[in-house]
Amino acid sequence: MFALVDGNNFYVSCERVFRPSLQGRPVIVLSNNDGCAISRSNEAKALGIAMGAPWFQIQRALPEAGVLALRANFTLYGDMSNRMMSIAAGLGPGQEIYSIDESFIDVSGIRDITRRGQAVRERILQWTGIPCGIGMGSTKTLAKLANHVAKSADRKPGSYPVEFARVCNLGALPAADLDAVLEATELGEIWGIGRRIGAQLQAEGLRTALDVARMDPATVRRRWSIVLERTVREMQGQPCIDLEHVAPAKKEIACTRSFGQPITKLVDLVEAVTEFAGRAAEKLRKQQGHAGQVLVFIHTSPFRSDKQYSRSITVPLRRPTADTSLIAQAAIGGLKAIFQGGFKFAKAGVMLLDLQDAAVEQGELALDDPGVDRGQLMSAIDGLNVRYGRGAVKLASAGLEGDARRWSMKQSLRTPEYTTRWTDMPVARA
Ligand SMILES: [Mg+2]
Repeated sequence: MFALVDGNNFYVSCERVFRPSLQGRPVIVLSNNDGCAISRSNEAKALGIAMGAPWFQIQRALPEAGVLALRANFTLYGDMSNRMMSIAAGLGPGQEIYSIDESFIDVSGIRDITRRGQAVRERILQWTGIPCGIGMGSTKTLAKLANHVAKSADRKPGSYPVEFARVCNLGALPAADLDAVLEATELGEIWGIGRRIGAQLQAEGLRTALDVARMDPATVRRRWSIVLERTVREMQGQPCIDLEHVAPAKKEIACTRSFGQPITKLVDLVEAVTEFAGRAAEKLRKQQGHAGQVLVFIHTSPFRSDKQYSRSITVPLRRPTADTSLIAQAAIGGLKAIFQGGFKFAKAGVMLLDLQDAAVEQGELALDDPGVDRGQLMSAIDGLNVRYGRGAVKLASAGLEGDARRWSMKQSLRTPEYTTRWTDMPVARA
């Protein structure tokens, strides 16, 4: 059994924690570079504001709607994410952090898991102020779908039975009830079915998630791909997806891992984080993106009786990039800032945030290193790694020491760093 814990409208929800006056209003968070919506409150969604819509268009189309736009504050989101993740980890052993606001948790064999999910959801809300949805199912694909049901039932009354709102455990349903839920769900909502495959399936006369669950895996493999076959099997309750197989969320790229054995030394964490940074940068280049910020985190295991420590830091890059060495340098700088000796670390990860299209930035990049074509170097590295296997060429960690202060760069105007800077801490007055 898997659970997916997912923060609702995450960036907007982080902002609302510190500005309660934003509750009930249409609020969006804009990307730093091109001013497009990257997070929307339910009220903004109800106005028809699309993900990725540029602010000037929104203003023009909805001058009277009172939409409030905020600049993305990744330092705040990274820190709130870390708090949410640490509480979510208590749901069950084995947490895979999938993105800044989503983690899968293995909840096999845990009794009364629906009730426990409700308690964890309440705790996250009470301790951090972030509302989230929890979906559970016998596979990750079904857990993800259950999460969609949990959120829809909460947001759009009537879409699904009200008892599924906020926490939905599809694993607890009798087969006929599960079929009814799948039948009420469009196939495009299935994790891993993108627009193109979705259109192909619809051309075959398929409509709902139930139609997909009833496909024959062998035929799917022959006619489409092994990737879609995995999705179909997962819909049938047969686990076969591990996170490596899943295309990253477009908003951010994450590379995170639980360690085989606890790690105590900084030098070992540097190695792990260097590797995660390299993989994340490779994914970033594959989607022709640049990142503006790098988040790095380290956690101990909440399921050991050892001393607990869990920190993350968001490091702005001087200029958006997909360059492995710059991204790794930022990640290692961040790691050194948050590392504390005397703990047994169980998990670490790197996330790339503030993503944008590489094409937007190209003209400016050459200013940095006039002598070196970094883009060419990076594609050469990617090419060698495809040919000789992952990690054939990577950065020597020794070369990454040094200019660690690159990461503490100036921030442009945005909301305060409420949770990570003493001078920004909100003061409550009686
Ligand atoms: Mg979310």
